[in-house]
Amino acid sequence: SIPLGFFGGIGAASRQGILVKGGNYLEALNSVGIVVFDKTGTLTKGSFDVTEVRPADNVERSELLEMVAYAELHSNHPIADSIRKAYGKELDESKVSDYEEISGYGIRVQWSGKTVLAGNAKLMRKEGISFGEEDSFGTVVHAAVDGHYAGQILIADEIKADSADAIRGLKKLGVRRTIMLTGDTSRVGDKVGRSLGIDEVHAELLPEQKVEEIEKLIGSKSPKEKILFVGDGINDTPVLARADVGVAMGGLGSDAAIEAADVVIMTDEPSKLVTAIGIAKRTRRIVW
Ligand code: ADP
Ligand code: MG
Repeated sequence: SIPLGFFGGIGAASRQGILVKGGNYLEALNSVGIVVFDKTGTLTKGSFDVTEVRPADNVERSELLEMVAYAELHSNHPIADSIRKAYGKELDESKVSDYEEISGYGIRVQWSGKTVLAGNAKLMRKEGISFGEEDSFGTVVHAAVDGHYAGQILIADEIKADSADAIRGLKKLGVRRTIMLTGDTSRVGDKVGRSLGIDEVHAELLPEQKVEEIEKLIGSKSPKEKILFVGDGINDTPVLARADVGVAMGGLGSDAAIEAADVVIMTDEPSKLVTAIGIAKRTRRIVW
């Protein structure tokens, strides 16, 4: 049976908007030595602003924005919201068919009889689309139409106000290693990681490679030490399921993510992780 103290701890956590799915996870929170973060929507706001639209030769700026907005019509990725918002006009669903979201890459879709691709550089390379790589600071969404490069849209995300506090607070509670996994470029990943004081950044990862990173970590640590992964539940449900403690954050993620998670943080504040581990440590003092 579960010691009474665990119920007190679970109740205290729930009053802070943190749902812990059982006493065993509260206990596991006590032994977290490594915290692994997803980037977009977890450490960053995930509400991007379009900062630049760069059409290829022979493509109009408005045409590029329109085709990418249509490509993103059915996506719930934060990138998609920002591009639809920048386009601003109403989208006619009947113009889009054969929608395919390629996790970690982007979108393929039929739009007004044309095949449109919208996503990262990896998607372009995978599909054999050639383009000139330019140095860019933000996240880049590349587009192609019927096999020809159509240009790129630059978008900028922002680090959440309390992400740096969260990293500092975790260190104080004895977390020895912080890691960020991202599907974004190393240029963007390193910038975010450095400004937050995160120990390691692994970038350009597909969702399945994030799972492999977790498995490598699990294989290389002592069984007593726990690995926590926290993500926003978009694209990262398999990672949530694989970590010793999977934390879904923001309440925006899919039902599947909430189901796969061991802990659900209802707000979008990463500092709630510090609160959760703090409660787990106080609960332990009461139980033992
Ligand atoms: P993160 O690991 O930062 O949370 P994701 O795994 O969600 O990022 O996505 C990885 C990358 O895949 C994004 O940075 C983007 O380049 C590309 N991508 C994913 N979904 C989309 C989309 N709907 N439209 C355009 N690009 C996308
Ligand atoms: Mg993500």
